[in-house]
Amino acid sequence: MPATGSIQVLSDGVINKIAAGEVVERPASVVKELVENALDAGATTVQVEVVAGGRTALIITDNGRGMNRDDALLSIERHATSKIRDVDDIERIDTLGFRGEALAAIAAVSRFELQTCRTGETVGTELLIAGGRIQEVRDAGGPPGTRIRVRNLFFNMPARRKFLRTESTELGHVRQTFLLYALGHPEVGLRLVADGREVHSLSPASSLEERIRVLFGAPVADAMRPVSGGEEDLNLRGFVGLPAIARGDRSDQYLFINGRPATAPVLQYAVSEAYHTLLPRGRYPVVFLFLTVRPDEVDVNVHPTKREVRFRQVSRVRDLVLESIRTSLRVGETPPVWPDPAASGGPAGPASPPEPSLRIVDLPPARTFQYPRWSPPPGGVARPAPAGPVSPAPEVLPEGRPWSWCRVVGQVGGLFVVLETAEGLVLMDPHAAHERVLFEKYMKEVLTHSVKSQGMLLPETVPLGPADARVVRRNLDVLRSVGFGVAEFGGDTFVLDAIPAVLGTVSGLTLLRDAARSLDESGPRGGVERWAEERIAQAACKAAVKARDRLTLDEIEKLVVALASAEMPYTCPHGRPTLMHFSYEELYRKFGRTG
Ligand code: ADP
Ligand code: MG
Repeated sequence: MPATGSIQVLSDGVINKIAAGEVVERPASVVKELVENALDAGATTVQVEVVAGGRTALIITDNGRGMNRDDALLSIERHATSKIRDVDDIERIDTLGFRGEALAAIAAVSRFELQTCRTGETVGTELLIAGGRIQEVRDAGGPPGTRIRVRNLFFNMPARRKFLRTESTELGHVRQTFLLYALGHPEVGLRLVADGREVHSLSPASSLEERIRVLFGAPVADAMRPVSGGEEDLNLRGFVGLPAIARGDRSDQYLFINGRPATAPVLQYAVSEAYHTLLPRGRYPVVFLFLTVRPDEVDVNVHPTKREVRFRQVSRVRDLVLESIRTSLRVGETPPVWPDPAASGGPAGPASPPEPSLRIVDLPPARTFQYPRWSPPPGGVARPAPAGPVSPAPEVLPEGRPWSWCRVVGQVGGLFVVLETAEGLVLMDPHAAHERVLFEKYMKEVLTHSVKSQGMLLPETVPLGPADARVVRRNLDVLRSVGFGVAEFGGDTFVLDAIPAVLGTVSGLTLLRDAARSLDESGPRGGVERWAEERIAQAACKAAVKARDRLTLDEIEKLVVALASAEMPYTCPHGRPTLMHFSYEELYRKFGRTG
């Protein structure tokens, strides 16, 4: 019978269980709290062991400063913490925890064993607790540090235990949590063991780069660009991935605020916005970003475990993230990302591609462009005849260009362009490439307010559907500012008498309709400068490229050169790839040649 009518103060046991509901959701939350405690205790090595996805047991061992008996007993009391004394301390906090809730909560819903020994002491303490009740307190030996064993999580809360997912799902969450702290603390050695099997063993790393390389491997590490920007009170550092290694979800976006794994809608938004025109919809970049903000500018106290924070100066944060990432992705502006692993003594990077030993054609000397003409031989073997350089090329290309030299081999399927480069074989989608080149050229004019408009011989009247017409009407000023001579003609019809010269000839109807649709797609997003201009340029370039007949070999050669010096050569403005790269290393491997 539910009791109604009389008020009673809940017992501590019940209060702890309720609090546990907020702090401990699943095994991964236990790992989060205990790893944070270990790091707060100054540990330089932390081991996480999981049995059956954490449902059976979780053991976290650290070599931190440990606790004496009194502190050990206090540590499992609710609201007992060594990390703050006063509410003002929250603003200055530099530890991961401060609520003093976690151990009490975890101990309330598990069979909990704590062994701890202070540095410099020989006798430590062991506590055995079941469902929040102390069963035993005794002396224990052991190395300095703390080891906590959490068995049978939620054994006394059957309803909640039922909500645990399969072992592999829970292990996945544990691993994700482990990764966050491993990335947040490259200087700490960390080990993750699942059912006796070692999942990760990370020795202390000298830098974030090194840790990323060890955790994610060379393909990801090599595709990262460093980010840094901002001022003392608000700054961003870390690494962002090139579009080529984007994922189907956000799981490889690692965000930290003042050293804590955390997120905020504005951060995710700014990250996607930074990749706008670089990634198609539904693709998410890999990022490792550390935002530092003056503690009084951020509220981390929103919810006990929700990693979401609030900022006071939201737009400053957004602009910083957006601009820092964009700057970093711009080719040529950043130094080579990863130091030569051999030189830095770090873990070995990818093997350099083996020298091809069999060559069908003479290779042009490195670091020159050479574009021999090629026409399909009448039934013979495709063998491009070497020819003189078509265009004088710069001796040395800026770092980050798609190739140091390349040769147009030809076109296949009536579309794809085959290129040979020093690093391997490259396939190019000339339409995507053309869109990228045109887009950058056009946007450059827009940004410098120097769009050259070209009058049309015969002004075109363009009838639009009501929805498209509404968008065009709303954006007439922007359209004019980016080179369109457009005016209302009455009803839903417009008259177009000039277009941006970069576009060449293109149908006014397609232009206006596509521009309207892409403007309408997601609505103007607050605060992003030039959003509308970018959208219009994106649509216009697509229409312009579509209007073209097939490209001649001449044009392809020009395109290859133009693309190589584009700021963001790897995708079209809609995020589709322009280039696909097959390294010699990959080719050798696929053909089973060991080189
Ligand atoms: P909080 O971390 O918010 O202070 P916890 O319940 O997680 O609260 O921990 C309570 C206290 O127990 C901490 O403030 C700390 O003094 C102590 N403690 C917990 N875990 C460890 C550990 N691994 N090593 C040393 N001290 C610890
Ligand atoms: Mg804690």
